Amino acid sequence: MSETAFEIVPAVETDEAPPHVGTLVLKFGGTSVADPEKIRRVAARLVAAKRAGGRVVGVVSAMGQHTDELVALAREVSPRPEPRELDMLISVGERVSCALVAMAISDLDQQAISLTGSQAGIVTDTVHGKAKIVEVRAPGLARIHQALDEDKIVLVAGFQGVSTDFNITTLGRGGSDTTAVALAAALSADACEIYTDVDGVFTADPRIVPDARKLHAVSYEEMLEMAASGARVLALRSVEFARNHGVKLHVRSTFTEETGTWITEEDERMLEKAMISGVTHTLEEAVYRVEGVDRADLFSALAEAPVSVDTIIQTDGPILFSAPVEDREQTAAVLERLGAKWNEQDGLGKVSVIGAGMKSHPGIAARTFATLRDLGLEPQLVATSPIKIAFYVPQDEVERAVKGLHDAFELSSADAERGHA
Ligand code: ASP
Ligand code: MG
Repeated sequence: MSETAFEIVPAVETDEAPPHVGTLVLKFGGTSVADPEKIRRVAARLVAAKRAGGRVVGVVSAMGQHTDELVALAREVSPRPEPRELDMLISVGERVSCALVAMAISDLDQQAISLTGSQAGIVTDTVHGKAKIVEVRAPGLARIHQALDEDKIVLVAGFQGVSTDFNITTLGRGGSDTTAVALAAALSADACEIYTDVDGVFTADPRIVPDARKLHAVSYEEMLEMAASGARVLALRSVEFARNHGVKLHVRSTFTEETGTWITEEDERMLEKAMISGVTHTLEEAVYRVEGVDRADLFSALAEAPVSVDTIIQTDGPILFSAPVEDREQTAAVLERLGAKWNEQDGLGKVSVIGAGMKSHPGIAARTFATLRDLGLEPQLVATSPIKIAFYVPQDEVERAVKGLHDAFELSSADAERGHA
């Protein structure tokens, strides 16, 4: 019997499970890589995904509070750091964690290579501090593919890219999510898994509503509204990107094996079974009341700043709008420059009821306002979209409104989870 024949047969016979040839992008948030022990655990998780047969790309955030520490350090040195230099500084956090994860992977006898956003081909516009990804360039992608072909795990530093004028940029807070989704789209990955310190997306913040349910599925549109209105689990832009490119997102815990929440196209469960996906809130909202300027001038000046206006309330008199709290300085500068008469409404929080089923089921607004009336709450400003009703109340009434609405829409019931039938 020839040696070759003897060896070939068992090799073929043991290879019964079809290999998983798809690509997976796994993203780990800052709390998941907060210390050396956790970094080793993330490495093990990536290696397990690789051994299951996939082509694996890992995207990591900076360790723990590293980004905040770097920002604070910059401010200790300079009261208003140059945006270009600030990006150069804070992009370092993700390079640190990404290199450390690659080292830990090598110790598990698996090859890995870490890349900066720029090396991975992530090209952005030129807006420092909140750059938008405009392209994932071919040479970077080719490099990733080559490493994957060589059986390596590829680590990419999240939150950063290189601008069209060759400066290092960052993508805004929480931007590693966007890196992961952009890579998943560019690599046509099967899914983008977002590993974090919570179990998924909930019907409300479990710290306020202890019996809030973990949602099994949420549509892109719902997740966009949720991310824009207080659900901090995913960066807004990453959801936008996922929707535009049809990337399936799975938000799940780093610390358990459990399924989390899938973010996908809208389906029957969302439209008929559990029409409301959740009640979100924010405790701090910057709402501006402006007089003496032209609407069009105001919003184009804000857009140029750039401040992304969230809610605009139509009134006959003053212009009312809200904008991210982080953009307070820029917003004030624009209002001053235009010579507007303005003030910021203090002490307001926002509560939003969100659900894809709203489009086809009347009565959600009726139930929302009846609930508020029963609670003795007077919503101050109301803003709606086809799948959202949002309103402002004083900060100290936010909790009561969230709890009351969560009850009114029976979001603690098993049906609210939208599990598979
Ligand atoms: N490290 C960055 C931040 O803290 C980006 C991220 O975590 O996604 O915002
Ligand atoms: Mg995050």
